[in-house]
Amino acid sequence: MHLREATSADAEAVDTDLALLPVGSTEQHGPHAPLGTDSLTAETVADAGADAYDGAVVVAPPIHVGVAEEHRDFSGTLWVSEDTFREYVRETVASLAHHGWDRVVIVNGHGGNVDALRELCGRLSRDGEAYAVSFTWFDAVSDPEMGHGGPVETRLLRQSHPDLVHEDRLDAAAAGAAEGWGEWVSGVNLAYDTAEFSENGVVGDPRESGADRGEKLVDEARAALVELLEAVATRER
Ligand SMILES: [Zn+2]
Repeated sequence: MHLREATSADAEAVDTDLALLPVGSTEQHGPHAPLGTDSLTAETVADAGADAYDGAVVVAPPIHVGVAEEHRDFSGTLWVSEDTFREYVRETVASLAHHGWDRVVIVNGHGGNVDALRELCGRLSRDGEAYAVSFTWFDAVSDPEMGHGGPVETRLLRQSHPDLVHEDRLDAAAAGAAEGWGEWVSGVNLAYDTAEFSENGVVGDPRESGADRGEKLVDEARAALVELLEAVATRER
């Protein structure tokens, strides 16, 4: 059940304690992919998981602005501080729990949110407010090297939102891309912002993102999320 489309009466009637909360970002993804990539991918995976799960699950509306200051040099990027982000997500989860949906899987689409979400889910769970875990979909699939606006994200978008991928800009995206994330010396990333190591904000070659592989990517992410939902639904608290 998607809260955004359901009525309050529908919400009252649903019999579950499981909820999914998609969390994304609004940030540059190179010249070829939309600013909303991380929200679109998180929603795609959350919807697929909710559809495939054998049981009722409430899907909350997505959070579209996250921890993304590292992309501030590129137009259109929005961000909030980690403190604001954690508080906003915490209160959103607390309101889900208020209605009895207190086993919460956050479906995350943005690398910059990972640390804040892990800490937040630990705090919520230890405090007993809810049992919450954070699932970052690209960490659960077999595709190597996430990059940024690179093959993995572009592959998923080509499957879920093909009209939003500018195929005619893929060569330009690849030409200005960095090969890897960051500027590493002795295990330390010297760069804080993407613009310090990537000319156009892209990491990885999005041309390697054959649309035919997109379906497999969604399948893998969906299966991983369903397995996680089953574990969270039955775990002792
Ligand atoms: Zn992204």
